[in-house]
Amino acid sequence: MNIIPRILILFLFFFTSCEDLNTNNTNHQVNLKDIYGELEPLKERILTEEERDAMSPMKIVSSFIQGNQRFIKNNLTVRDHTKMIREAALGQTPKAVILTCSDSRIPVEDIFDKGIGDLIVIRISGNIISNEILADMEHACRELGTKVVVVMGHDNCRAIKSAIDKDKSGNLASITLKIKDVIENTKNILGPRNKQNSQFINAVIQNNIQNSIMEIRKESPILNDLEKNNRIKIVGAKYNMASGEVLFDI
Ligand SMILES: [Zn+2]
Repeated sequence: MNIIPRILILFLFFFTSCEDLNTNNTNHQVNLKDIYGELEPLKERILTEEERDAMSPMKIVSSFIQGNQRFIKNNLTVRDHTKMIREAALGQTPKAVILTCSDSRIPVEDIFDKGIGDLIVIRISGNIISNEILADMEHACRELGTKVVVVMGHDNCRAIKSAIDKDKSGNLASITLKIKDVIENTKNILGPRNKQNSQFINAVIQNNIQNSIMEIRKESPILNDLEKNNRIKIVGAKYNMASGEVLFDI
């Protein structure tokens, strides 16, 4: 190509680029759209109490399943956290209490694509139950109007493996002893009853989730009554570390 047309093309490219930059600088939304392309516009905000109360417990669980699908597909909702912090300062109307393990690989809000003010998250190794945890759940459901209690275990749980190993070192016994009965009651599993047997570990994890749910109903008449009156729903769930998927037991 001749040198003159080349200079002309470069000039035109420079001119149109400057024009684009000018347009973007005066229109923030156009700029974001150009940069991020497929990202959805901001749509999350803090729910009012009326909006939360209009949701049934099953609708909330359903929104968690949909949010988990967005998490798996790396399509989390874009949130204006600054705006949400300001809105949340006025009060909280959380949709659910999530009791899960303290494992660092479980980013609870992200897993369900939820934001500020959506969840009360209680974390302890092995997602076990204590009086303090029940008190938190009761406060959430009775005082704050939370409608769903989720007990979420996960595969490869260190607390479960330690309990199977009968590890009581340090203060760990306060957790492993709470899982002892679950392990003893996990039967009809092929192979050895140790942490080398993944089938046995998975069965204990599943039974431990159900045991926590049973303890909630048994040890908290408040939560038990709320569930019997269809004011709340108590459900089990299991988080898959490799896929990011949460399977609800409903
Ligand atoms: Zn764990």
